[in-house]
Amino acid sequence: MYKFYFVAGSQDLYGDECLDKVKKHAQEMVETLNSSSLLPYKLEWKPTLLTKEGIYKFFDEANSDEECMGTILWMHTFSPAKNWISGLKIARKPIMHLHTQFNEALPFSTIDMDFMNENQSAHGDREFGHIMTRMGIPREVVVGYWRHKDVTDQIASWMHSAIGIVESNNIRVMRIADNMRSVAVTEGDKVEAEIKFGWQVDAYPVNEAVDYIKSVKQADVDALMDEYYQKYGLILDGRDEGEFRKHVEVQAGIELGLEKMLVEKGYNAIVTHFGDLGGMKQLPGLAIQRLMEKGYGFGAEGDWKTAAMVRLMKVMAEGKNTGFFEDYTYNLVPGKEAVLESHMLEVCPSCSDGKVFIRVNPLSMGDREDPARLVFTSKEGKGIATSLIDLGTRFRLIVSEVESIKCPEKMPNLPVASSYWRPEPDLLTGAKAWILAGGAHHTAFSYDITSKQMQTWADAMGIEMVRIGKDTTIDGLKDRLRWNEAYYEHR
Ligand code: MN
Repeated sequence: MYKFYFVAGSQDLYGDECLDKVKKHAQEMVETLNSSSLLPYKLEWKPTLLTKEGIYKFFDEANSDEECMGTILWMHTFSPAKNWISGLKIARKPIMHLHTQFNEALPFSTIDMDFMNENQSAHGDREFGHIMTRMGIPREVVVGYWRHKDVTDQIASWMHSAIGIVESNNIRVMRIADNMRSVAVTEGDKVEAEIKFGWQVDAYPVNEAVDYIKSVKQADVDALMDEYYQKYGLILDGRDEGEFRKHVEVQAGIELGLEKMLVEKGYNAIVTHFGDLGGMKQLPGLAIQRLMEKGYGFGAEGDWKTAAMVRLMKVMAEGKNTGFFEDYTYNLVPGKEAVLESHMLEVCPSCSDGKVFIRVNPLSMGDREDPARLVFTSKEGKGIATSLIDLGTRFRLIVSEVESIKCPEKMPNLPVASSYWRPEPDLLTGAKAWILAGGAHHTAFSYDITSKQMQTWADAMGIEMVRIGKDTTIDGLKDRLRWNEAYYEHR
């Protein structure tokens, strides 16, 4: 279970009485926040840090505690920052510097020097911030009274980013196909991705996956088919029911086979490619959609970067409301501009707005039998679409703030799941900015993650992030790209 360390910094000059209050205040903050259910994960109070040795040990413990996803640090009094250097040098878990104080109001009528010395984070937190800036340590600084909702909201939001930062190191992508021939944007430097993000990206022969699929027992397929038929509606499109079922059974076998392979080999993301299916009877459609819903990352046409991003964002979003999309086609009617998002098959049901149906349709590409897929339309609401690109010398993350809206009309002839969204600040500016930044057609999308949270992750990884939002102008974006080039190319 994920947790976060909460610790106050001080020093031993203040005497036991003062340090006892520091301890009590920190404990009360932890207890109050933990019982408030304002935070998605628990805080663990740690004894007040006073010395260089104690501070070093604290970070050493956080590093080796697998459940610890980050540390929240607060200088209740004054903690000389040279004492923090050796500890901060080994700190590997994400850091939040919470700049708060125990009391909300300044007690004008009673304040004396004892109170001043005991409640001086305005003083101590500046000393602490200075050393982290001098050491170039990426961290989140949250400022405000700890009981205020905007402060607890910021802590909660950061917790999801922190989990992404730590869990990024555990992302393992199984490639059962190479990138699609001649396509540029899905390519990338896998060694650099492992150095920067911790992602392990490995290839397996597609027919090793086929062997797993072939070894699936019919009884297991039957059981999964019962689940499908109970959970999803069927759109037969005039097909014979028995023949329809046979097509769906193929996907049930693929789901079970691929999942067994992923579990046995320890991967949490997968890529496929319609042009490299070996002995598979169908392109994995419904099977991949189900795996994504269970939390696996996915990228089509060998797109391992997007597969890893989908996994990353699912981990950050607790598995919910997050998946893989492709920018397909526009509505360019003035005032109604939007883009239809979909893929050949593989859209995650966690984005659906309600009932999900199974359909069987021919694919326009490839040479396999008609694959079964889940079809639905997506929820309305704000979200972000992300694209991680490799510029040859470095990675760039592009994040577009979008609003998923209701499709103005039904699309009865579209046999795939879809979403319909309007990028900020408007489709034409958003698309132009995306293209200038070099963003791909594949995206990892989430309703629950914000561009701020992705920025925290990108900062921790030491890569550039380009945000396209309400305030984006093309001139401003072009300048940003130029400045970023100067900064990130010469680090
Ligand atoms: Mn594609």
